[in-house]
Amino acid sequence: MVEIKYVPTICPYCGTGCGLNFVVKDGKIVGVEPYKRHPVNEGKVCPKGNFGYEFINREDRLTTPLIKENGEFREASWDEALDLVANKLKEVSDEDPNKVGFYACARSPNENIYITQKLARVACGTQNVDHCARICHGPTVAGLATTFGSGAMTNGFDSIKEADVIFCIGSNNMEAHPLFGRKIIQAKQNGAKLIVADPRYTPTAKLADDYIEFKTGTDVALLNGMMKIILDNDLQDDEFIKNRTKGFEEMKEVVMKYDVEKVAEITEATVEQITNAALDYGRAEKAAIVYSLGITEHSHGADNVMSCANLAMLTGNIGKEGTGVNPLRGQNNVQGACDMGALPSDYVGYRKVADQETTDWFNEYYGTNLPAKPGLTLVEMMNAAHAGDLKVLYIHGEDPVLSDADIKHTKEALANLDMLIVQELFMTDTAECADVVLPAAGWGEQEGTFTNGERRVQCLHKAQEPPEGAMLDWKIMEEIAVRMGVPREKFHYESAEEIFEEIRECAPIFAGMNRERLDTPEALHWPCPSEDDPCQPLMHKDKFAHPDGLGVFQALEHLGPVEVPDEEYPLLLTTTRILFHYHAAMTRRCKTLDNEVKTGFIEINTEDAEELGILNNEIVKASSRRGEIEIPARVTDDIKKGIVNIPMHFSECAANMLTNSDSFDPKSKMVELKACAIKVEKIEG
Ligand code: SF4
Repeated sequence: MVEIKYVPTICPYCGTGCGLNFVVKDGKIVGVEPYKRHPVNEGKVCPKGNFGYEFINREDRLTTPLIKENGEFREASWDEALDLVANKLKEVSDEDPNKVGFYACARSPNENIYITQKLARVACGTQNVDHCARICHGPTVAGLATTFGSGAMTNGFDSIKEADVIFCIGSNNMEAHPLFGRKIIQAKQNGAKLIVADPRYTPTAKLADDYIEFKTGTDVALLNGMMKIILDNDLQDDEFIKNRTKGFEEMKEVVMKYDVEKVAEITEATVEQITNAALDYGRAEKAAIVYSLGITEHSHGADNVMSCANLAMLTGNIGKEGTGVNPLRGQNNVQGACDMGALPSDYVGYRKVADQETTDWFNEYYGTNLPAKPGLTLVEMMNAAHAGDLKVLYIHGEDPVLSDADIKHTKEALANLDMLIVQELFMTDTAECADVVLPAAGWGEQEGTFTNGERRVQCLHKAQEPPEGAMLDWKIMEEIAVRMGVPREKFHYESAEEIFEEIRECAPIFAGMNRERLDTPEALHWPCPSEDDPCQPLMHKDKFAHPDGLGVFQALEHLGPVEVPDEEYPLLLTTTRILFHYHAAMTRRCKTLDNEVKTGFIEINTEDAEELGILNNEIVKASSRRGEIEIPARVTDDIKKGIVNIPMHFSECAANMLTNSDSFDPKSKMVELKACAIKVEKIEG
């Protein structure tokens, strides 16, 4: 008799964190059904959620460890591969722990990520552990921690439905976070006004009541200009500023230099658009800011984030439902990866490495001798590898060859290592560069938790066995730690649940999350300090998370992109995601999603295309100072003249062949993925 069952889980793609049920037939995942009772998606789902399971049982799953010899992979036993990895990690970290680095996987459950940072810190004694938030929401963590004292979304997703005005900047949520986009549509149905600022006339912009087309990388100028208009019209919240914040006068002094005419010149938006947006936001009783990677992926990404925080504090739009600063996190568990301490500056629960007392606590708890000094960020690790200063890199489920800026630089850096270890489901572009590949279990094959963008920690459940030969991530890392000499009793778990109990012990923000409370569709939001705390999403209600409880205004000048168009490279490139893909390793292996959009394209404004003699769908050459690609042109009025866009998913015409890894944000170490100078040419003949 055929056995069918439903197993609750959470979508593994964007940070919205929709609830799904696996449909399991005779022990194999054969489909998904959206979870009707789930508070985030309420039984709805986007194409990625609907068809994104199709990669799970593909024949090209990795099932045997691989070791590279003379440039070719050969199959190896688990014992041989684990010994090789453990011996190399031990040899190099004994010599100098700074020569070893770890990338954690922001798509993996919290428990795996916690173990990745524990392997780095406990077995190798290094603080060099980071993950892809560095090049997506690193500026959010840095910027909101500086202004509000906590680097996370301030409100729950449903809060947006109570807003009177929604100011959405650098976020195409209808494609990148569709089920959050649905909540914006519901807010509009409730009467909210939607203002969208974006260089592209995106599906989200098309829903707006007011659309502001503006130049990539001029966000601080736009926001300063709006704040000056608010101050000129006496729309600031004086009581909130006086009682809840500090640094206002310094911020005001800078903002008052940004006359709307000057701002219109910098941003190329109109005076009327800027003025209307400022007055609408300033006059609203409840106004919410929504942003995403259009704000963060710049060489001044943290400034952009802090400028959003300034605007919210200026008008008292924080700490109430329908308001707040709401960054939409990219990957399904990128919030969790930050929370778990996969950061060179933070242990689990944002306990600071640089604080000696905190490091002493962890040294005692872990039995280590870690320095109270932050390690290298992801970008710094890659640069150190390039310079020959990093010898071993352990990449857990990330694909930096595709996703990091400047692919040539990334490949050179990886080739320079003594050993690259990649723990993966598939032979990705990065795995191709590895010396050792370790086949891991994936989504649907393990228990654990994901944390979505509104800090909701949600349980996922195992629906089928991993393919024979693949191992659970945390078990792989436990085996390596033990082979490196860590006593088994200090690095041993029977289940993901046991790992979560250790997380609760180490991080007060999770202390109240017992399994019974957590394993419900509603789950729990952090901070969750005790088992009787309601653990609700709204933050900064009465005070900010800084020790003195005050929000801190920042005085910020407009800086603009590091690399600007010139005669040789006259167009400004931005990079994006599309509805049907999420990076590549998983969605391009889902037949239905792959059939929707099979390859990349470059969006170019109709006038620019005419000037260059380029036709729609024509294959063109796009080049920058870093490299060149050939790619189909998509000629459209939906992008600002002078700006071009390439989705980042497709390695055969990879946007990151062109992007710039030299220009990074000093405050967050974000590289400038959303702005570099390129040229586009017709291919003759
Ligand atoms: Fe998955 Fe995001 Fe789509 Fe929800 S909106 S189904 S989390 S990709």
